[in-house]
Amino acid sequence: DGVAHPLRADRSKLYMADLESALHYSLRVEAARASSLSGAQLAALRCYVGTLVKYFPGRPSVQTYLQTLDAWLRNWTEPELPRTVLKEAMKNNRDGSHPSVLPTNVTWVGCQGSERHFRGYPCGLWTIFHLLTVQAAQNGPDKELPLEVLSTMRCYVRHFFGCQECAEHFEAMAAKSMDRVASREEAVLWLWSHHNEVNARLAGGDTEDPKFPKLQWPPPDLCPQCHKEERGVHAWEEPAVVAFFKAHFSPANIYMDYAE
Ligand code: FAD
Repeated sequence: DGVAHPLRADRSKLYMADLESALHYSLRVEAARASSLSGAQLAALRCYVGTLVKYFPGRPSVQTYLQTLDAWLRNWTEPELPRTVLKEAMKNNRDGSHPSVLPTNVTWVGCQGSERHFRGYPCGLWTIFHLLTVQAAQNGPDKELPLEVLSTMRCYVRHFFGCQECAEHFEAMAAKSMDRVASREEAVLWLWSHHNEVNARLAGGDTEDPKFPKLQWPPPDLCPQCHKEERGVHAWEEPAVVAFFKAHFSPANIYMDYAE
């Protein structure tokens, strides 16, 4: 029937439909909400698209889409970018031998909630940034630009994330400790541990999907070796968490189920 059923999603997998839906929403809806972009907000969009070009493991037509948009944004030299002009530049182009296409439908698979108002976009946005921190750690020099992806996320969330309260919470966490991150692998762990901090804060609250309770992630059934006990107290085995992230947030773990 083409409609994803939450019970069919496998929690050990990533789904391209979630990633592309979140990309579409983050670019064409959230980043294109203001009547025009300028200054730090325009810089945040350029930074986001530039980081996606470097590290998002998309299919060829999506990579072409991101490269085309990146080049277009770098060519835009006026201080103000009107939304109407941006929207035009964000359209798909199927002509020629290199189609430039980011699907415009929104289909949640791994991020599908048990009701419409649960999960979806915020889940997809977390997933994109975990994937980007891991890809940047796998494909870049560990000690150079350790904050490349995290500072992109910080700017994106501050300037575009529609949940204002979430953006304020995230900015507070970033301001407290993000600049102590000294390597790309530490950036992976920073995002992991701060996402878990958010999970702990939101557990049992009214934004929690009862079918998807907030967990300290990855739970033991996904990664038994990530957990240990020290003097009877739960602790994380961080090297195992890094190894798990490199396998979980890898192109080989992205499945095409329900992708357009
Ligand atoms: P999510 O927390 O969205 O996680 C998505 C998926 O990522 C999970 O299904 C799991 O597979 C995986 N995952 C879970 N934890 C981790 C981890 N530690 N590391 C790696 N992967 C993990 N909501 C609020 O109500 N208040 C807020 O202040 C708030 N702040 C937010 C800040 C940001 C930057 C973002 C992106 C979202 C924020 N949200 C906030 C939304 C909230 O965090 C969830 O995204 C939303 O409630 C949907 O939850 P979910 O069950 O789909 O899991």
